[in-house]
Amino acid sequence: MKAIRVEKFGGPEVLQLVEVEKPIVGPHQVLIEVRAIGVNPVETYIRSGNYGNMMTPPYTPGSDVAGEVIEVGAEITDLKIGDRVYTWNPGGAYAEQMLCERKGVFALPDNASFEQGAALGVPYATAHRALFGRGGARAGESVLIHGASGGVGIACVQLARAFGLTVIGTAGTEEGRRLVSEQGAHQILDHTADNYLMAVSEITGGRGVDLIIEMLANVNLQSDLEVLAQYGRVVIVGNRGEITINPRETMKRDADIRGMTLFNVPPHEVPGIHAALRAGLENGSLNPIIGRRFSLGEAALAHEEIMKSGSWGKIILVP
Ligand code: NAP
Repeated sequence: MKAIRVEKFGGPEVLQLVEVEKPIVGPHQVLIEVRAIGVNPVETYIRSGNYGNMMTPPYTPGSDVAGEVIEVGAEITDLKIGDRVYTWNPGGAYAEQMLCERKGVFALPDNASFEQGAALGVPYATAHRALFGRGGARAGESVLIHGASGGVGIACVQLARAFGLTVIGTAGTEEGRRLVSEQGAHQILDHTADNYLMAVSEITGGRGVDLIIEMLANVNLQSDLEVLAQYGRVVIVGNRGEITINPRETMKRDADIRGMTLFNVPPHEVPGIHAALRAGLENGSLNPIIGRRFSLGEAALAHEEIMKSGSWGKIILVP
């Protein structure tokens, strides 16, 4: 079978399509015929070699696929050949077939396409964790999705809207803002415009916003703190550098800054997150939006694309 291999860390060009051996399935593992692969920014950080030691070359990148089960390990009784599934399993996704641990495989409802399934593992689970696990979102509150046009942002908009929050979303392009609006945000702001966060005060009747889900904290954290309501929370999902903040802004409001990484979700909470995502897909409140599609051999192009501004939904690879 074909797979992308990274022989050494580096730029997108180190993503090489090669022929590899078919994996051997262990007793607690599942082999999946991959129909679609989700590309996430973290895979570019890991590939560049600047993201700890999560993967050691040679390796096959990615954690998110959707497809059909083609082999199950001897100890697995609750999955069978032909089941439609999606994954969140570290490594091995950029391939025609993916070997996964059972605990990283989740049922894909019939009304979700394989491409939509490939958009779930990291983005939707991150959005759920950010809003509810870390953010403590409550129905009736307001939330600013700061960076709403990408994979995690669209998921946040849909989850927050379905849960009964007032949703403010930002995007950097006209197309992105239209998408954020179509996905349910009540108010849409342009994060490239001057003083765009001044509108938050007006939108919230002068209170400020209860919760902010932040995709680029190194740019926005100080201004986030300035538009928070009393007892407000900022959840940092994305960050690509350093920033100076004035901690007094947190004191004035008894505000919280809460970091998160999906890898830190306590293992016993993972099934609950995916049960919620499944329910949302089945009842139609969650509807992953697919942006650009690339072939598996174009993984390098997809890595270049995901780091550009002008996001519009989820970038996927099709094997
Ligand atoms: P993505 O699909 O590439 O989307 C990036 C988003 O950031 C877009 O909505 C983009 O908007 C927005 N953005 C760009 N400039 C911004 C600015 N100045 N202020 C606010 N937002 C801005 O990426 P993703 O998959 O949604 O991930 C978003 C971030 O979260 C990435 O940094 C990723 O590494 C991180 N992440 C973290 C976790 C975790 O566990 N903590 C999990 C998943 C992702 P425009 O393109 O419209 O400008």
